[in-house]
Amino acid sequence: MSAVLMNRIAQALLFGAWLIIISIEFMSTVVSSQSCNNPTYSNPVTITVNSWVPRTQVTVQIDDTFSGDKAAGLQAGNEKWNNPALVSCSGVSFAGFQQVAIAPEDYEETPPDGRLVWQNDDPENGKNGIVLAEVNSVGRVVAARIKILPTAVNIAQGTYYNYLGTHEVAHTFNLRDCVSTSGCTTGTEPTIMRGHSDGITSSNTFNTDGPKDCDIQKVLAIYCPQTPSPTPPPTPPPTPPQTETDCQSWGWE
Ligand SMILES: [Zn+2]
Repeated sequence: MSAVLMNRIAQALLFGAWLIIISIEFMSTVVSSQSCNNPTYSNPVTITVNSWVPRTQVTVQIDDTFSGDKAAGLQAGNEKWNNPALVSCSGVSFAGFQQVAIAPEDYEETPPDGRLVWQNDDPENGKNGIVLAEVNSVGRVVAARIKILPTAVNIAQGTYYNYLGTHEVAHTFNLRDCVSTSGCTTGTEPTIMRGHSDGITSSNTFNTDGPKDCDIQKVLAIYCPQTPSPTPPPTPPPTPPQTETDCQSWGWE
């Protein structure tokens, strides 16, 4: 075999190896850049809108007319947003959880900045819950009330209020209900924005184990974007200033 031929073979082998390395690199790039389709954002244009101001240490209060199991569920579900990865990125955390007496006339009061109040009060939307968020001039959440229908039973072996605790707070991070009417018909990614588990056809740990990987990924994208856009678009004023979100329970399997 001539030296020239050997050289050609070596070149061909090296070229083949290079091709393989490049294709592996490309494939791994494609895989790692895969992102969750769901949940989607309430405001998909400016995803910071309808989410807490960064580094807000939220003081949570719970209406003392909730029964003990409901209050405990709401607290446990809400506290799941103190996920270390999220808190280290956003600085948004939830603490307090005192049970407070709310006078009838105070149910429509705007809470002071940095406060979240769980109210045992009819959302008056035909659903089990509603989030009424106060937003600042750039649409970021500064305070919120969450109303839960007093007659909503703590179903799914007493885990439904854990679900509500996580699900409703997700709305204060600009996450939208994952239901067929919001275009959430495809994909199987678990997200707390889907309906609750009934604890019969699906495990109730769905209700109690907090935000799912895709929920966390979507919120991280709000506070710690991987690739900041070079020219951020102007932030439109939020419309409406109060975020009202349906919280119908949907069977999820
Ligand atoms: Zn909802």
